[in-house]
Amino acid sequence: MKKSILAGLVFFNGIVMVAQSKDEQMLKDIYKSGLTNAKCYDWLEHLSNKIGSRLSGSDNAEKAVQYTKAQLETLGLDKVYLQEVMVPKWVRGEKETAFILDNKMKIAVPIAALGGSIATSKNGLTAELIEVQGIEELKILGDKIKGKIVFYNRPMDPVNIETFKSYGGCVDQRYAGAKEAAKLGAVGTIVRSMNLRLDDFPHTGAQSYGDLPASEYIPTAAISTNGAELLSKKLKSNPNLKFYYKQSCAQMEDVLSYNVVGEIKGSEHPETIMVVGGHLDSWDLADGSHDDGAGVVQSMEVLHIFKNLGYKPKNTIRVVLFMNEENGGRGGKKYEELAQLNKENHVFALESDSGGFSPRGFSFEADDANFNQILNWKSLFEPYLIHSFVKGHAGADIGPLSSFKIIKAGLKPDSQRYFDYHHALNDKFDAINKRELELGAATMASLMYLIDQNGIVK
Ligand SMILES: [Zn+2]
Repeated sequence: MKKSILAGLVFFNGIVMVAQSKDEQMLKDIYKSGLTNAKCYDWLEHLSNKIGSRLSGSDNAEKAVQYTKAQLETLGLDKVYLQEVMVPKWVRGEKETAFILDNKMKIAVPIAALGGSIATSKNGLTAELIEVQGIEELKILGDKIKGKIVFYNRPMDPVNIETFKSYGGCVDQRYAGAKEAAKLGAVGTIVRSMNLRLDDFPHTGAQSYGDLPASEYIPTAAISTNGAELLSKKLKSNPNLKFYYKQSCAQMEDVLSYNVVGEIKGSEHPETIMVVGGHLDSWDLADGSHDDGAGVVQSMEVLHIFKNLGYKPKNTIRVVLFMNEENGGRGGKKYEELAQLNKENHVFALESDSGGFSPRGFSFEADDANFNQILNWKSLFEPYLIHSFVKGHAGADIGPLSSFKIIKAGLKPDSQRYFDYHHALNDKFDAINKRELELGAATMASLMYLIDQNGIVK
């Protein structure tokens, strides 16, 4: 009998067999657990259908804190606790109304106030509009903006396969459009929704007046993509038409809220921490099932998979459900503040905040040595159709983490349909596919496992 092992191939009595490595077997077990024994879909059903939208400072956000804490407590973790964090509270008020006023015609269009916006006056705001393709064009128009509503209508670029790139190419209109228009004397802004599809859903999202004095704030809202197309068409035939909108949103006092944390203590290096997380808050228009209910339950599932498989990590594995990513990022900042205060050593952080669609890979914030180590694991992921390993933005909540040497990663699901739902009324549980959600969780657990076993390159 002759047996030798050469680069993963086992020669056994002349027969070549592929040796199954310990890692290959573990990934099989992880995916099997994720696809047959997961709790993430049920957790998301509860977060979406029993609780609903979870804007920071709302009663629902508080319910989500209590619910996820209670669920983590059922997993037999070593520790589950809350971190206090003060968060902004913004309320939408009554449903917004908007009309295109074209001669004698009054055409209703769907809008939604942007997060952080002020209200219009009680009777609403009526003015002529000026359409621009972005902040650059606005600045060129200068004085012509005075007294007008600025209509930002640059669409997301359909050419990018990575739709987040198209989002990045447009979102300044939403985030800073009101501030820039106010500086030039505009009375309000209307922004085309960040959505590649033509439909009737306005997509909300954060906006900021920056350092403008409060007396110069102007009300700002998103209009659905169909609404934007219609408005643009009407403006071409009648540049003097007027636009009316009314919204009653308000910024309230900050409120006490929480990050939810659970951990499995490391068996060899308990002082070395690896984080997996998503954000518990969501926008208020729907249930935030993709953004970011999916990331929350997938992160919880990573720890559930490890417990289910009896895996004892070398390092401490911590799930963090961050509060207030959408309109302040206070949860992520608070987590980092406490990590510094407690002199914690984080070596790895993984975030899922790109929707619950089929996982394709990860984007990494890592140096070359660590990125190359990760690339060596690519073949382990191939059976699960995980192939995209790139350098790039990892996540907003883990962004502030600043340990001496830390690798950050973001789960990259297929992004083609993400912006159909992002921050809109249709981001609901029925937009989630159970298997896709579970595959994402298993993919995250696999990467956590590999980094736990191999460590990072120091
Ligand atoms: Zn998000």
